[in-house]
Amino acid sequence: MEIRPQITLAGVHQQAEEAADMLASIRSAMLAPMVRKLAPSFSADQVATLCEASSRGSFAHRIASRKDMPSGTLVSNGRKRVFDLAETRQWVRDYRKDILRPEGAEAITISIANFKGGTTKTTTAMTLAQGLSLMGHKVLVIDTDPQASLTTLFGILPDVEIKQSDTLMALADGSLTSVRSLIRNTYWDGLDLVPSASSLFDAEFMLPNRQSREGTKGFEFYRVLDLGIDDVRADYDVIIIDSPPALSYLTLNALMAANGIIMPLPPETLDFASSTQFWSLFSDVTESMLEARGRTKSYDFINILLSRVPPKAGRGASTTADAVREWITATYKEKVLPLEIPRTSVASQKSSGFGTVYDSEPGDAKDKTYKRARDAYDLFVQHIEVSIRNAWSRQLQTSGEGGLYGTTPAPQEI
Ligand code: ADP
Ligand code: MG
Repeated sequence: MEIRPQITLAGVHQQAEEAADMLASIRSAMLAPMVRKLAPSFSADQVATLCEASSRGSFAHRIASRKDMPSGTLVSNGRKRVFDLAETRQWVRDYRKDILRPEGAEAITISIANFKGGTTKTTTAMTLAQGLSLMGHKVLVIDTDPQASLTTLFGILPDVEIKQSDTLMALADGSLTSVRSLIRNTYWDGLDLVPSASSLFDAEFMLPNRQSREGTKGFEFYRVLDLGIDDVRADYDVIIIDSPPALSYLTLNALMAANGIIMPLPPETLDFASSTQFWSLFSDVTESMLEARGRTKSYDFINILLSRVPPKAGRGASTTADAVREWITATYKEKVLPLEIPRTSVASQKSSGFGTVYDSEPGDAKDKTYKRARDAYDLFVQHIEVSIRNAWSRQLQTSGEGGLYGTTPAPQEI
């Protein structure tokens, strides 16, 4: 029998280069159209709905009477009016001004976390950010995952367009102390981004390294992001952080910077099992990290979002998903949001075009599957907005008692 030659490290190296070349060429072919990624525009009816205007007529009347506000562009021989995203958001902010961030309050930071990959974290982060921006909020999204899927959803080619110094690595290595200069505008009005790229992975070595060198000088590896966003909290209504699928130094930074945590969880056995590990690891690590230093941390809200839920089984039958859903509700009780994101072909089709349900196209609105997906995300965003408004109220109350980041215990201590 012929003995096959062994594979040397040089062989592995060559394979790595070939794979990288192949990926680069596939990616540039696939992503070419995204470079021109465009935000949707809206009909007058759609704007009226987003504004929660009492009727279409009242919105039309308001357009006519408010000379200080955008009146959109007339199309179809002057029969229809369309509004671009910036114009739409301007109207929404005007109608909803009493619901938006009150004076004196700062951005509420929400981390989307789950140690398992493929649990819809990135999709959840992007849809929540887009949905909140359509409700008038100004949102900053921060990509802390070196896989940079969220950055890709913005039509950016991470490993081509993003240098290491454009990512949170600049905070990790100490060259910056604020994220401000890392923030960029995106194709979506009201949504700014701190991007990621695979080179951010070096933070996993840099942070523990600095801890051992600078720990005695007060450096805390898990507070780099929390301190890094302090400078911009007053400039945004909401900050949303997407996190890597691992208990990494970057994930801990995301969790420590947050006022609220959302864990998207598909009702599948392995996903459920892994979610239980998340809580035990999270609590073990924070215990040794914080409590050993005499610190504590509390959250305004921690929610589980049932996501990518398959259709219910017919009468009398039951599926694995039905059983796992019951375990999830029994385990996480009131933390489980009272809504579900259905598994739909729309969500996966949109993501293969590097978008989400909010990257809608004309004609989507008439599609029944699209509407079901969109309604579920809208309901999710509405629920989180309530939590955000609650957190603002707590901030204002606490600031009255001395300092926005006072020590009033929040309901969900870890
Ligand atoms: P993660 O960030 O946790 O790794 P992703 O957001 O990248 O997860 O989602 C994993 C996969 O699931 C993606 O291919 C995405 O398109 C798909 N997906 C997300 N939400 C849905 C949904 N509601 N229905 C069907 N597929 C979904
Ligand atoms: Mg992801």
